[in-house]
Amino acid sequence: MINLSRTGTRMPVQAPEVRTDNFQEVAEGFTEEMAVREALRCLQCREHPCMTEGCPVSNHIPEFIKKITEGEYEEAYQILLQTTVLPAVCGRVCPKYLQCEGNCVRGGKGRPVAIGALERFVADLHRKRVQAGEIEEIPGSVAAVSSASEEQAAAGSKKVAVIGSGPAGLACAKDLASAGYAVTIFDREQVPGGVLAYGIPSFRLPDEVLAFEIDSLKAAGVTFEGGKELGKDISIDSLMKEQGFSAVFLGNGTGRPMGLGIPGSDLEGVCSAADFLDRLNAAGGDEAALKQVLPGEGTVLIIGGGNVAMDACRSAVRCPGVEKVAVVYRRSVKEMPADPAEVAEATEEGIEFIYLTAPLEVLGEGGRVTGLKCQKMELSDPDESGRRKPIPVEGSEFVIPASVVVEAIGSRSENDGLDGVELSQDKGLVVVDPETLSTSRAGVYAGGDTVTGPKTVIAAMGAGRKAAGEIDKYLRG
Ligand code: SF4
Ligand code: SF4
Repeated sequence: MINLSRTGTRMPVQAPEVRTDNFQEVAEGFTEEMAVREALRCLQCREHPCMTEGCPVSNHIPEFIKKITEGEYEEAYQILLQTTVLPAVCGRVCPKYLQCEGNCVRGGKGRPVAIGALERFVADLHRKRVQAGEIEEIPGSVAAVSSASEEQAAAGSKKVAVIGSGPAGLACAKDLASAGYAVTIFDREQVPGGVLAYGIPSFRLPDEVLAFEIDSLKAAGVTFEGGKELGKDISIDSLMKEQGFSAVFLGNGTGRPMGLGIPGSDLEGVCSAADFLDRLNAAGGDEAALKQVLPGEGTVLIIGGGNVAMDACRSAVRCPGVEKVAVVYRRSVKEMPADPAEVAEATEEGIEFIYLTAPLEVLGEGGRVTGLKCQKMELSDPDESGRRKPIPVEGSEFVIPASVVVEAIGSRSENDGLDGVELSQDKGLVVVDPETLSTSRAGVYAGGDTVTGPKTVIAAMGAGRKAAGEIDKYLRG
């Protein structure tokens, strides 16, 4: 029986006036009845473009959805584990409208099947059942690489180092551990997860959800060493020549924020979105700690139009005492790269959007921010790539009063730690063979943002899995 509803099942969310007072997850998840109803909308397409065109890790989408319609939720979870290590995370943070759901056949006439919400449903149910002692957590067997037992035994004598515990590193580590390699993840932070732990606010990804999926990785045999920074505490040379690692995967992301570089950017009250989100996450919803990050008076301005800008503005609006939050973006809403659902939720939360506006100077008094001098922009005709450039409108300068200015204009790689190591780089990004993800140094592979620049969590996971397969081939000669 197929559910022919074109509108689909909406996930319940906290009301805007309630959620702006807390850091609890906004989306509350499907109930069992909702999940089955939504799963019944899947047409079980033979070509299933949701999977082949839309999902960077090729989750078996029709297959796991079918299991939901049959009430076989744990089986649905096990199907997901064949291809992904973080289903509860991806179900929440993937830009699904561009990926699986953006390719769903049902999207042609109505709403696509809520694939992400269904993925999240089965992963959350699995976690709750393990936590309630109803089922045992069996280390999953993601297997992009060989997993025959005799090969596992051979692999067991080889050590692989993974640098960076973000999505690329976690995915690579899990596949290699499943194939029998002794895998250690090194990260400069003490808590694993990279951008997932430090960059995504808890109202989109609760700590508990990430911690459970990382624990299942540890249960699969992956060792984690925090507080180890590349170029400071460890180097590729020391790992390979002194510590006996046969291969290294670099998945250290692009954690260095870019700054506005305009006059006044060094004033107190100007910070990067990465730093801002990191400190707010560390505050963990505690009112006194939040007040230390954002004292509360005045307007918080977020500069930028991507998903990080959305995370920053929506975090700021939840801080006690903050009077107003506004996003300043130099193009129009049409060009804004942020997920439209995030923009809609931010708007519901009372965040103001100031479009076609570029910052010129941060103004201050006594060393502290008091405002932002801006200029209006208009858009050029589309260039060959179809992109419309913002052009300053003469004589349109104006000042927005502000107490805090958060720069959310992108990040770049942190490969300074590679200085002195023979590894080809281009503008700070590691150069790899696109087929094999191998770098210019034998045995060293790289993937995710450190190669491509900032992309999505699931694209990084896809690269991590691909690299694991290539490392396995390399180590088996
Ligand atoms: Fe969709 Fe992301 Fe899940 Fe793939 S991993 S099915 S893209 S939500
Ligand atoms: Fe189901 Fe949509 Fe995928 Fe078709 S494209 S199999 S309807 S999820």
